[in-house]
Order: sequence, then structure tokens, then C-alpha cells
Amino acid sequence: MSVNQQAHTGPPYGQPQPAYQRYQQPGYGGQQMPGVPHSQYGVYNGPMPGYQQPAPPQGPLRTPPTSGAPPPTSGALLPVGQPAYNQFGQGDVQNGIPASDMKGTSHNNLISFPGPSTSVPPASGSFTATGSGLYTPYSSSQGPRPASMTHGLPPTSLSQGVPLAQPAFSGPPLSMQRLPSQGSGYAPPPSSTGIGPSNYPSTTGAPRPSTMQSPPLSGQALAGLPASQPNHLASPPPPQQAMSGPHPGPPMTGLQGPPPPSTHPSQPGYQIQQNGSFGQVRGPQPNYGGAYPGTSNYGSQPGPPPPPKRLDPDSIPSPIQVIEDDRNNRGSEPFVTGVRGQVPPLVTTNFLVKDQGNASPRYIRCTSYNIPCTSDMAKQSQVPLAAVIKPLAMLPTEETPPYLVDHGESGPIRCNRCKAYMCPFMQFIEGGRRFQCCFCSCVTEVPPHYFQHLDHTGKRVDFYDRPELSLGSYEFLATVDYCKNNKFPDPPAFIFMIDVSYNAVKSGLVRLICEELKSLLDYLPRGGNLEESAIRVGFVTYNKVLHFYNVKSSLAQPQMMVVSDVADMFVPLLDGFLVNVNESRAVITSLLDQIPEMFADTRETEMVFAPVIQAGLDALKAAECAGKLFIFHTSLPIAEAPGKLKNRDDKKLINTDKEKTLFQPQTNFYSNLAKDCVAQGCCVDLFLFPNQYLDVATLGVVTYQTGGSIYKYSYFQLETDQERFLNDLRRDVQKEVGFDAVMRVRTSTGIRATDFFGAFYMSNTTDVELAGLDCDKTITVEFKHDDKLSEDSGALLQCALLYTSSAGQRRLRIHNLSLNCCTQLADLYRNCETDTLINYLAKYAYRGVLNNPVKTVRDALINQCAQILACYRKNCASPSSAGQLILPECMKLLPVYLNCVLKSDVLQPGPEVSTDDRAYIRQLVTSMDVAETNVFFYPRLLPLTKVDVDNDALPAAIRNSEERLSKGDMYLLENGLNIFVWVGVNVQQGLIQNLFGVSSFSQISNTMSTLPILENPFSKKVRSIMDMLQAQRSRYMKLIIVKQEDKFEMLFKHFLVEDKSMSGGASYVDFLCHMHKEIRQLLS
Ligand SMILES: [Zn+2]
Repeated sequence: MSVNQQAHTGPPYGQPQPAYQRYQQPGYGGQQMPGVPHSQYGVYNGPMPGYQQPAPPQGPLRTPPTSGAPPPTSGALLPVGQPAYNQFGQGDVQNGIPASDMKGTSHNNLISFPGPSTSVPPASGSFTATGSGLYTPYSSSQGPRPASMTHGLPPTSLSQGVPLAQPAFSGPPLSMQRLPSQGSGYAPPPSSTGIGPSNYPSTTGAPRPSTMQSPPLSGQALAGLPASQPNHLASPPPPQQAMSGPHPGPPMTGLQGPPPPSTHPSQPGYQIQQNGSFGQVRGPQPNYGGAYPGTSNYGSQPGPPPPPKRLDPDSIPSPIQVIEDDRNNRGSEPFVTGVRGQVPPLVTTNFLVKDQGNASPRYIRCTSYNIPCTSDMAKQSQVPLAAVIKPLAMLPTEETPPYLVDHGESGPIRCNRCKAYMCPFMQFIEGGRRFQCCFCSCVTEVPPHYFQHLDHTGKRVDFYDRPELSLGSYEFLATVDYCKNNKFPDPPAFIFMIDVSYNAVKSGLVRLICEELKSLLDYLPRGGNLEESAIRVGFVTYNKVLHFYNVKSSLAQPQMMVVSDVADMFVPLLDGFLVNVNESRAVITSLLDQIPEMFADTRETEMVFAPVIQAGLDALKAAECAGKLFIFHTSLPIAEAPGKLKNRDDKKLINTDKEKTLFQPQTNFYSNLAKDCVAQGCCVDLFLFPNQYLDVATLGVVTYQTGGSIYKYSYFQLETDQERFLNDLRRDVQKEVGFDAVMRVRTSTGIRATDFFGAFYMSNTTDVELAGLDCDKTITVEFKHDDKLSEDSGALLQCALLYTSSAGQRRLRIHNLSLNCCTQLADLYRNCETDTLINYLAKYAYRGVLNNPVKTVRDALINQCAQILACYRKNCASPSSAGQLILPECMKLLPVYLNCVLKSDVLQPGPEVSTDDRAYIRQLVTSMDVAETNVFFYPRLLPLTKVDVDNDALPAAIRNSEERLSKGDMYLLENGLNIFVWVGVNVQQGLIQNLFGVSSFSQISNTMSTLPILENPFSKKVRSIMDMLQAQRSRYMKLIIVKQEDKFEMLFKHFLVEDKSMSGGASYVDFLCHMHKEIRQLLS
């Protein structure tokens, strides 16, 4: 690649750029990706017709209230049942505040809470009258019952003072705590963004265009290989006793007797209510309470048991409904990015993006697209201002990847002062001779070769010919000034480092890896349309010592060199260690054939780990290139060597002040090593196969700080886990990675990036350093005010990522985004995105556990969200009774999603969750994009008997609660790490036969890791749905078959996140009540 060519204009803009071929790499296994080639680059045709103002930036471009007109369905008044006591609140709800009265807008969601139960008359009597799920709104005017006053007192939240904006803990110094990360996935479209077929078909009948048969674009590329994904479930089945609880299952009328009296203390503010759905009254959930100190009274009231009561789940905001409404309202039109501050469709909606000046939401999503003008306002609302950035996200084939702009030796045009890159928001003045920076206002001369005349509107006449003037995302070819040591980089190298201990050999893992590599090496990333990959490869095996291999093409056989002085690691050979695959193919194949034989009889169980990384790093240093280490490792490194670890796992620390130590590395040896790796551009991917604790919190440090990925296969067994592992490995090896990267986020005056979350390293407060950054990794950036913003000029972000492509080309990828600014809180609340907010909050909380008791972290999260909602209630909604919970339309799912984060394994682990699982999940979530956190915290649950085998659409998803399940149905649940198939005890025999190939429920094996391939429409349809889901995720999900009432059912129930959890997590209904109480306390 002649990077030095002197082209001054953007290169072949408008025509396919070779460099981008990567987007259509042939699938592994030789299959071409269907239908990709043509439009990768879509021709750039200038602005979309309908787009009037190409340059969003300047001027008071008022964004149309994107969140504006709420979909009719999401009406403001939430399900109002018939109040059991009409005299209470009914009016509040039904005639309540006219929507127009609400300052905030018409999108309020009112949820009325019933009054204190004590005020309730003989409950049972009154309920019978109301049939449908209703709950009586409680209006304070009705005379709150005494209980409610005393309850809730020593209100924890009160004691914190109202402005409890700041969570009790403050994050650790930015650069200090990066967790490991991971994320992977390759080709396919950003999973979530909804590229694939619309996942949840609208029930309304409007057929969605998408189709199921052909898995989402990217999915096809994967055809032969699924992606893989570790699962965090402890393999061993949960203790049996867990099963003793009530069966899950379909509305089990009759199963659930009235709760014991003692457990039904009346709860202030909670209202009795009948369960409309099943005609049955449910009692409060006993587990609740533990989690929230403030509610200690709950459940302990003496006195005769008042009738059980609770909110009707059907009356509270439903994630399924919100997802479906968005899909119906926004899935059909492309999302055009020309207008400042537009809120994009949800990540669960399938939509196309047209770049007209702002980066696609596939690259950047924000917690709010309209940010407060002042810091005081921002503090008042407590809404975090953050952007989730995925700089190298893969796009669906229908969308155009960023164009590559080559300005020749002079390099990209930048502001003289702040060094921001040329972008659509720069203002050309003086006839085009100078431009004023949109970030810092400094005026810079336009270099002669870049000069162009302006038209009568002040726009350059070559506006549409230059990506950097008209698009939100594009790339610049970097000059030598952007390279280390002022020298263009060599292509990166991949080093495969295989644990050949007794466990690894005996499980068949070593042989499996070697066999796979023989073919996988043909699919290394090519970073463009190169004939063959430029990446060189090297091989190391290890146990207590390291074995290096010379695979130089001129050798007849590979040569092994052993380094046993692990304390002073060095690479024994330079020439012949890193080679071109094609040139050395015969020697490499021979080596991979021999490795399993050479160690077949090993008895070695003591392993080293740090010296392995050190060796890989030294090899890259010697070769003067960046690269990636693929380490396959099985156990805690206890052999005498640097980085030696001890088993310090101790579950007794859970719920103590020392719990945080479980997440901290046991030595800082690894972070020092990571620092060296980052300096060299050495990214470390880790594949773990533990049979016991191996200290993921410590081993994962280097992976995390180098931007690598971690995969974990506990109790690895060839039969059940190889498909998942191989798919993960294939995807991981093939995906595009930017090496030796540095990312900086510039902002316009008034705000600045203050905090960063993700897998990377920082040596100062502004530059995010990534030894490697792949297409699945996100970096979440938080912003704070440092001055006032103006509604006219809005706010701008520019994310610039400097990296080395897998072809060895140095590039800059630029993403720009303009946001609105507001002086009214209502505008903020109208333009928020809850999924992104949850992504930020989860990462913030998961980082917080490093330095704070988990309970402190949970309380801080609850408190912050209560303040967000209380601020809305106080400033944006019109006055109404305290018995009503009013949620902003854009945040009506905040409580349910927040609860999912609070009861996740990291923050509230059940007994079956291991310390390593928690550290692992914590690391994964830290690099997840918004779509991934969305499905991870609120899994997707699909009724399989509702699939239409003649239709491409997926069945409509249902809410994650046991009471939504029917004994006669089968369900598929996925969360990005696992796929469960739950089979009810009454499922028709014919369906069981068709899906599992056995004749009865009792014969279904729950150890199968894939569904049998049966030639009937139902089997084909279900398998195609699974293939499609696998293709959407960055890791291959583990399939777990769960039979109702079987021992594995507890694992499954753990994911029914609207229910209370075994580990003490609250149900959605109970949590909503709790949030309401917190909000009321803040307001009072
Ligand atoms: Zn500037």
C-alpha cells in the first residue's frame, strides 16, 4: 500500500474502496457472504433528498422533539385497573391530570399506588368485585394510613439528604481501574442494533420485511461457524434443594395458596390488589426486604394478615411493549443522521442508518441527546451524560462503511489549537481561506491544497465530494507523523500459546486446538482486499517451562527450543518464529500434528502464566510489530515463576466489607506487565478452561488493560463444549482488530470527557490506549460540564481513533456527533435513552465493586435513579397525588432494568455463582455495547409453540416472569451468553418428537448441547431461529435444555428477571414499589 501517494483529495470517494473489503470477507469455510459485495461502499450520493440541513451544527437547529409524539400505545396512563376501592384514586388515574397539563409533556406514565393496606377494609370483600387486574391508586388525600408514615422511616434515603446526587462511592481514578473486557463478534452487524430480522414481530400484523430464513446479513457469513460464547453459569448443576420451591410454570392456579399471614404485613403505599391475569391474589414476595434496608418493616407487621396485595404486573411498564412500539413506529424508516440531537430508534429495533453528518448510533449512543445547558441543571437531574462508543463497529451490508480519505503527505486537516480533525461542523470563513473550529473557536488557515470556494450559503462547493465535510464518520490515512518512532508499522503478528498441561491434554483440548488451527490460519483478517493476510504467526506451548517453535519455511521439520528459566524470560529465536502462513504451511502443519503427540504422556500439572505473556510480548518487541496473543490456559499458575498466584477464593467474604478484594487482582504484577504490553501494541486474548478457581480477577488484568477478550469454558468437555469454543475461536481470530490504538474524545466548549469505562489503559486523563480494539468493543465515556452551554450552538463530540489495521496501515477513524442543549429539564427527559443509561450505570456499578462494598454500590444506584425520577416528578410533571408514580416516557423502563442490574450476579450473587464467574461477567459487561447490555440484563424470551413455520418472523417475545409461562409450551430464552430451551411438562408429545426426536417429556436429555437435526418444519424453524440469534451475538451462546421441574430449572429461573430471585433480588413489582417510596421520600 503506498501510503505516501500524494493524492490530495479524498480518494476514490464514491466508489468502492478496496481497503474496505474486509466488510465482506468470505465466511470461514469458504462460503462467500451472500450478497455482500455490491454495495459495501454504497456510492455516496450526497445528501438524502429529504435532508435540508446537511450541517447540523451551527445555528439553532431545533431538533424536532424526537421523542416527541409518543406512540399512541404507550399512553400516558398506565394500566389502570379498576381500583378496588373506587373512592380512592380512581379519579386520579382516569381523570388524572390531563396530559396537556403536564409540563413535562404528554409522555408521563402514571402509576398509582394504592394506599396503605391498613386503611383497607376487609380486603377480600372488596376485591371480589373487581375482576381485572387493578389496583387502587392511593391518593394521599385519602388519608394515608399511619403505617405509611412510620414505615419507611429511618429511611435510608432520607438520611442521605436530598441532593444525593453523588453516589456514595466515587469511582476510582480513571486510569486506574480498567477491568478486563471482552466483546467479540465479528462480521455481523452490531448485534443488537437490530439488523437482523426484526426480532419481535409486531403483533399488530404488519408484516415486517425482515426475514428469518436468511439470517441477518452477517449471520450468513457465519454459516458454518457459530460464534461462541462462554457462559457464566457454573456448570455444575445447582444444588437440588433449590428446587424445593414452588414450581414455576404456567399460571398455576391452585398451586399458590394464599401466603402465610405473617408474611403479609401491610405495606405502606402498597395496595391490595387482585391479580387480574390469573384471577388470583398474590402475596408480597417474602424475599424482598433484605435488599433494601429502608424497608425493614416489610414483612414483619404484626396483626391479622391483610389480604395479599400487589400491583398488577400488567399495569406497570412492559419492556416488551416498549420494544414493540418502537419497532412499529421507527423500524420502517431509515434513521437519517442529519439533524442535531435526534434520539435514534432502540437497539432492539431493526433499522437502517443514513449518515448525513452525524455518526451512526451503531458507533455512538448517548444517555441523552439533549443535555442541560448548565452544570447545576445536570446535577439537579442526576442524569449521567455519557456516550457509549464502538469505534470499529461492523455495519450491516446495506450501510456504507466509513470512506477512507487520503490527504497525502500533509495529512488530515486539523484545528491549530485543539487539534480536532476536519468535520462537518467546522465553519469556513473569509471566502474559504480559513476555518473556525467548532470545538474551540480557534481560526485556522486552510492549506492551499485544501482550498475551495464557498457557495452563497457559505458552504464549500466540494461539500458533497468530501466525506470529512459531509459525513459523521470517515477515516483518514495517517502519515508517518502518526506512527511510532516516525516509521510506518509492519503488519501485526498473532502468537498462539497453548497450555500443554495434563488437564489440557487429557480433555482433548490440545488436539482440538491444533486441529482447528490448521484450517483457521487460512482465515486471518486481511484488512482490506489483500490476496492473503499480512499477519504473521508464531507458536508456543507451555507448562512449567516454555517451548518455542521455529517454523521457518526452509526447514523440513519444525524445531523446538525450550526455555526453562521462566524468571528471566527471553525469546530464543528471532528468525523463524514469526512466519507467513502460506510460506511455512508445511512446517506449521507438521508442528500442529506433532504437538498433541509430544505431550500425550505429560503428567505436568503446575503451570506458569505471566512468563507466557512476557514471552509473547518480547517476541513482538523483537519483531518490532504490534499483535495479539491467543492464550489457551487451564489452571491457577502456581508454579514458581513471576506472577505466581495462590488460591485466595473465599466465598465467606460475600456481603462483607472485604468482598471487593475478590474483584481486585492479588498482585500488581499483572498490571505492570499490561503496561508494557500496551506500549508495544500487544493485545492479549485469553481462553480459559478451568476445573476450579483460577483467579479470573488477576489473570484477566492483562487482557482487560490491553483491550483483549476473555472467554471461559468451565469444566470443559469435548462433546458438549467444543462447538461453542471453536466458534468463539474462529470469530475471535477472524475479526477485524485495530492495533496499537489511541482514542481521544474532543468536545465543544462547555463539556469535557471526564471518565472512561471499558477495556483499555490510560496513562493520562485524556488518551484511551488500546493495544488492540476489535469491532465488538465499546468504550463508555462520561461528560461533565466545565462551562455553560448554549441552546443555539448545542454540544459536539468528536471521537478520533488512531490505529494500525490488520494490513499494517496506520489510520484515523473519526466519529462526530452533535447534541442539543436545553434550559428546560423537560427537554432533557424527553430525549433520554434508557438502554444507554443502563449500559452506563451497569459499568459504573461494576467498577464500583472494586473499591466499595457491594451493598453500597447497589444503594448508590437506587439512590441515583430515585433522584433522576424525583427530579422529573418535581419539575416536569404537574402536581398530583403522592400515591402516583409518574415516570418520564423515555425512562419508564428505568426501574425494571435497574432492578435487573441490581440483582445481577456481580451485585447480588446466588450461591451457585462462583467468584470467577463474577469477575468474568464483570469484565465482559465493561466492554459491552448497548444492545448487549440490554439483552444481558433483560433476556429475550420467545414462546416456541407460537412460531409460525411458514413465516419468517419470530414469535412475539414475552415478559420474563414465571407466571407468563405455560406448562403446555416451550420457550427459548437468550441473554447473549446462554440460550435456554424450557419445556413445560404438558407440552404435546408431537412437538417433543419434532424438536427432540424422543417420544416423551421424560426422555428429553438435558445434557444435549445442540438440538438434533430433524427433518420437519418445526425443528427447522426452531434451529433457524437459534442460528439467527447466534449470528447476532458476538459470542457463541451455550445451549441449555431445561425441563420444567427438573434440577436445571433453577438456572433458568435465574433469568426470569421480573420475578424475585433466589439470591434475594426483588421482583419488578416490589422494586417499583420500593422506587416509588424512595422517590416520595426525596420529594417530601
Ligand atoms: Zn479547535
